[in-house]
Amino acid sequence: MRKPIIAGNWKMFKTVGESLAFVSEVKGKAEAAGVESVICAPFTNLPALVEAVKGTTLKVGAQNLHFEDSGAYTGEISGVMLKDLGVEYVIIGHSERRAYFAETDETVNKKVHAAFKHGLTPIVCVGEKLEEREAGQTKSVCKVQTEAAFAGLSAEQAAKVVIAYEPIWAIGTGKSSTAADAQDVIGYIRELVAGLYGAETAAAVRIQYGGSVKPSNIAEYMQQPDIDGALVGGASLEPASYIDLIKGAE
Ligand code: PGA
Repeated sequence: MRKPIIAGNWKMFKTVGESLAFVSEVKGKAEAAGVESVICAPFTNLPALVEAVKGTTLKVGAQNLHFEDSGAYTGEISGVMLKDLGVEYVIIGHSERRAYFAETDETVNKKVHAAFKHGLTPIVCVGEKLEEREAGQTKSVCKVQTEAAFAGLSAEQAAKVVIAYEPIWAIGTGKSSTAADAQDVIGYIRELVAGLYGAETAAAVRIQYGGSVKPSNIAEYMQQPDIDGALVGGASLEPASYIDLIKGAE
């Protein structure tokens, strides 16, 4: 009943020209009836991408937003602006933003509210550092981050959140979590949502795994009962690899 969602997180890669070349390569190929396919690109590429994906089932997402609608925030982009472009998704609280750009559980929560205010679907990232995993704190870290992200949301909003469980030690390292370990944490996150909103909402929330997902391992994750897709960095940059990810998620 939950539609799987594969989201490419391009991070700080690709010019407008490169984005358009990517779309013309994947058009009609990175599309599977049963899978939602989203490209999360740098801000500069979003207007061109929104145009380029028209008439396809590909969707476009941003990688961040500011929680205020407007104001004296030099260098920032608001939900109003993203909505105005026709962007539909926004990644919030990626570990790189938490580590390098002072994103906190509090700003993540404000941004989730801002996303809903403007009709954007948030993809909220949670996940533990290597030392936290080694100290047996994986679930407690995910609990704090998940509960903070959902604070103040209605059940109706909560059901629309996409959560990306990304163990930080697995991001960009080639050391992916085993499918069983990812299922264990993601099943736990779903229980957390059930604790907050009840079983029906928890059954509707889509939870992705992220961290060194590639065409060769996507199927293992998709076979897990609670894993509803993936947030993919490196392997989403090449058209052929992105197409294989979508096919692998079917
Ligand atoms: P990766 O990145 O697929 O390159 O590990 C995932 C992410 O950061 O979202």
